[in-house]
Amino acid sequence: MRKQIAAANWKMNLTYQQGEELLDTILKGNIGLADHQYAVFAVPFPYLIMAQTKLSGKKNYAAAAQNCSDQPAGAYTGEVSAEMLKSINIGYCVLGHSERREYFSEHNQSLATKTQRCLELGITPIFCCGEPLSIREVDAQESYVEAQLKESLFHFSAEEISRIVIAYEPIWAIGTGKTATAEQAQEMHACIRRQLASKYGSQVADAIPILYGGSVKAGNAKELFSRPDVDGGLVGGASLVAADFLKIIESLK
Ligand code: PEP
Repeated sequence: MRKQIAAANWKMNLTYQQGEELLDTILKGNIGLADHQYAVFAVPFPYLIMAQTKLSGKKNYAAAAQNCSDQPAGAYTGEVSAEMLKSINIGYCVLGHSERREYFSEHNQSLATKTQRCLELGITPIFCCGEPLSIREVDAQESYVEAQLKESLFHFSAEEISRIVIAYEPIWAIGTGKTATAEQAQEMHACIRRQLASKYGSQVADAIPILYGGSVKAGNAKELFSRPDVDGGLVGGASLVAADFLKIIESLK
């Protein structure tokens, strides 16, 4: 059975104490996860050890980084390497979020290198892709996302791609309150799966989790996740409210 993931993206929000409180409240909610279900929390770097320590006692709950360097080590002030993440047992890393692409000039080639660094260390990349509004308006989202996947991922082997989680996040839906409809999400997820299948075959493509991101809320998660190719969500705003994120975890199939 394909993995289903509810992934929280805290971005640059919450103090350390607020983060602790949020995780404690979520853990008190005591939602048990089936073998194929996961709850992952992408927290700011200084909170990773705290989050990992709290979550590691609970089956299929884990902490994630929001980024890592494309360099292995050295004189890169302010950067955090995949190896550093590995050394504190972090198992997931979000890569290529549209905010990083837009504000920190991340591009498909450097994301290919970051993905490689994570894969080499056994860290699961949560690789974000998705089109801006201008591309959606001219109905070019399929080729836009295909180029992102081709340039960052399609040189990996079938074994390597099988260890990646993809997050489809249409930029026009992120933090805007304007969610893609479940039909729009399903259409793009099916398209991404077809693109994966044409490169790697349907057996590999069928096993890769594809998360939807873009104004996922407690009230729409169930409908979005009910679609056959939507394997959970990457959630910003609603992941900062314990009751909302608990409902989102519960919405996994
Ligand atoms: C995100 O941070 O990836 C995201 C989708 O944010 P929001 O849920 O707030 O739209």
